[in-house]
Amino acid sequence: MGTERVVRVLAAGVCHSDLHMIDGAVGGPLPRVLGHEIAGHLEGVGDVLVYPCWSDGTCDYCQRGLEQLCPAAAEPGWAVDGGFAEQLLIPHPRFLLPLGGLDPVRAAPLADAGVTPYRAVRRALPWLTAGATALVIGAGGLGQFAIQYLRLLSAATVVAVDPSEPKRRRALSLGAHDAAAPGDDLPAAEAVFDLVGSDATLRQAVEHVRPAGVVVVVGEAGGRIPFGFRLVPYEVHLTSSVWGSYQDLQAVLGIAQRGDLAWDVEPMPLARANEALSRLRAGDVAGRIVLTP
Ligand SMILES: [Zn+2]
Repeated sequence: MGTERVVRVLAAGVCHSDLHMIDGAVGGPLPRVLGHEIAGHLEGVGDVLVYPCWSDGTCDYCQRGLEQLCPAAAEPGWAVDGGFAEQLLIPHPRFLLPLGGLDPVRAAPLADAGVTPYRAVRRALPWLTAGATALVIGAGGLGQFAIQYLRLLSAATVVAVDPSEPKRRRALSLGAHDAAAPGDDLPAAEAVFDLVGSDATLRQAVEHVRPAGVVVVVGEAGGRIPFGFRLVPYEVHLTSSVWGSYQDLQAVLGIAQRGDLAWDVEPMPLARANEALSRLRAGDVAGRIVLTP
């Protein structure tokens, strides 16, 4: 038997990057079966979450535990066909993590929406010692995960920033110490997480990060800021954060299995995938839509 396995898909999350892929802005050639947040069932193993960065396991990045940066990685629903399907061919069982009793429909979004903010927060932890402030710009799905990781993993004061009043309320209920609208007075912060990534939010990030602090951009709205002396605070670190390593996803699964994470999903039949994508484009989605075959 080779290393390939066929996983029966139980659930696949619908992500904003699926829209970018449909629009041809990212990803490989079309047509493509979308879906990179996948939970499924493997005969003889049980219910599994699919680690979506299908790396070669041999290159320098893989050796360093940076599978998501592997130049040879093929991501389902991106570079190869993905999880908006009844079955998924995976290249190797090492990309499967046992769900450990988690509901597959709830677990699927952890493979991107759950792990990406985890990685961003984990990398900023050295800045988030007691007394530090973390600013989370954008309190949508990913921001809500980020707020929870910040409370679980750091002693920082967490301030969420979002124009939407319901999202600010949600941020507070998930543990943010304060929630502000973009025009409000914001505190200076040791770490700023930009879950939006527009010109406006990046500007807000560099205006509020302290010297020697860190700005982590996760959102892919395509914004830019000028970089150089007197354009950003002295010795500030600017970094993007990309998806998650295998270890990051393992850690997120562990946190979810302990019951320490809250997130919203809305199951929808796979046959209504186009409706799900239209609603996401219209901004008419509260939690993650998860397609079920
Ligand atoms: Zn590699």
